[in-house]
Amino acid sequence: MIEITALPAFADNYIWLLRANGCVAVIDPGAAAPVLAHLEASGDRLCAILATHHHPDHIGGIAEILARHPAPLFAPAINNIVGTTHALHGGERIALPALGLELDVIAVPGHTLGHLAYYGSSLMGDGALFCGDTLFTAGCGRLFEGTPAQMQSSLAKLAVLPAPTFIYCGHEYTQANLRFARAVEPDNADIAARIADVAAKRAANRPTVPSRLADELATNPFLRWDAPAVRAAAAARLGHAPADAVASFAAIRAWKDHF
Ligand code: ZN
Ligand code: FE
Repeated sequence: MIEITALPAFADNYIWLLRANGCVAVIDPGAAAPVLAHLEASGDRLCAILATHHHPDHIGGIAEILARHPAPLFAPAINNIVGTTHALHGGERIALPALGLELDVIAVPGHTLGHLAYYGSSLMGDGALFCGDTLFTAGCGRLFEGTPAQMQSSLAKLAVLPAPTFIYCGHEYTQANLRFARAVEPDNADIAARIADVAAKRAANRPTVPSRLADELATNPFLRWDAPAVRAAAAARLGHAPADAVASFAAIRAWKDHF
């Protein structure tokens, strides 16, 4: 049984740990110190590092960790991250034998062009997705490098995973994201219920990540480009009905940039 836990880093990043058999794989170590402290305290052996994308808050700790704990580094091929042993483009299935785990690599350009998501269909019973800054709980990443069409296509790939899949994203942004979701769809009862649930968790200092894909499909405006209320909100921004899913998504994403 593989256990998934979070190491908080910076103001709101999550470094995800996959642990089993005295081994640990680390996803998106933006800082080295919390990972080194974990390895020291637990005695776990580092079996792999996985990077979703090249932003410093996701890879900043890699060099320092690898200097002390050599391990394979799985990372986007186009970013040439120092230490990469497995340069990935998406579409691969990677093996982490120490954990008895295989993960599917999904190319999800948009936030960055090389952005990857890692999906394990057997993790946590229902499957788990590590999606960095592409799909956030109740939101999605900004378009730093890609186009709205690329991001919408990437999110559409994630949306068709099994609905119970656990969504492990790179930041604790849920509460702020839900304020925007409510502005997009003021009458969505699932959003109202999620706001209450997330407020209770944050008040108790608990993480709101992971979520379930089913909850994202019901409440996340960046997966709901075809929902009538979201299309209507996009139309109000554009001054005319969005021509297609990409136009609907793009209008909502542009609104969020200035919300
Ligand atoms: Zn990022
Ligand atoms: Fe980030």
